[in-house]
Amino acid sequence: MIDSATLERLKQNWESVQDEVREAARQNGRDPSSVTIVGVSKYVDSHITDALVQAGCHELGESRPQVLWQKAESLAHHRDLRWHLIGHLQRNKIRRVLQAKPLIHSIDSRRLLAALATESVAQDTQSSVLLEVNISGDDAKTGFAVEDMAGLIEQLPTEGVRIEGLMAMAGWDTEPEDARQQFARLRELRDELAIDSGLPLRELSMGMSGDFREAIAEGATMVRIGSRLFEGVSERSE
Ligand SMILES: *Cc1c(COP(=O)(O)O)cnc(C)c1O
Repeated sequence: MIDSATLERLKQNWESVQDEVREAARQNGRDPSSVTIVGVSKYVDSHITDALVQAGCHELGESRPQVLWQKAESLAHHRDLRWHLIGHLQRNKIRRVLQAKPLIHSIDSRRLLAALATESVAQDTQSSVLLEVNISGDDAKTGFAVEDMAGLIEQLPTEGVRIEGLMAMAGWDTEPEDARQQFARLRELRDELAIDSGLPLRELSMGMSGDFREAIAEGATMVRIGSRLFEGVSERSE
């Protein structure tokens, strides 16, 4: 069980993150409802994740597929959750993770996209995905190289997956101003690809606890926020 102090703290954190996200949107002349906050619950166990839902967060992000499906099962009593897979998906985990019907932010190879399309067709479903782009160029970062994107978009699977947009992370040790330039590059890439492909590519998943303001200034429609939500919450697991 979650004690009331923890629940109270989560509520405060959730409120203040929402306020800051809305404020950042307004400052940039954007409608606050155009930015979705994905609460990244990878730092905490399913009890604290449940408390975050009670505090009001209904969009939950996990980096590990098996944790995502386990939490989706243990939180199935909440009818209105949407799950977001934000970390690497191994092909042998596709079948099970699809049962939670997540938005998959982390498509980082053609093989993965093809395997996901095939399994989605087999399950008679359509999966919503974002293509992860390595905008920083860091070797350690996952995602497609920027220069591979145009070719990729021309050869998408014809059924089983719906490409909703792009996702990226700023490089390690990047100052917010430099992160902002990387986010701008992702938006420009999206704009070009949308024109070339005719796909709307509406979603731009970019920005985390340390750089969501810069991401919102550059057009993020989804910010993925973890650590900020759990400040002062003692029972962090993992
Ligand atoms: C952990 C993680 C986040 C959240 O990061 P915080 O800095 O804790 O907000 C966002 N996106 C991805 C891909 C992550 O792995």
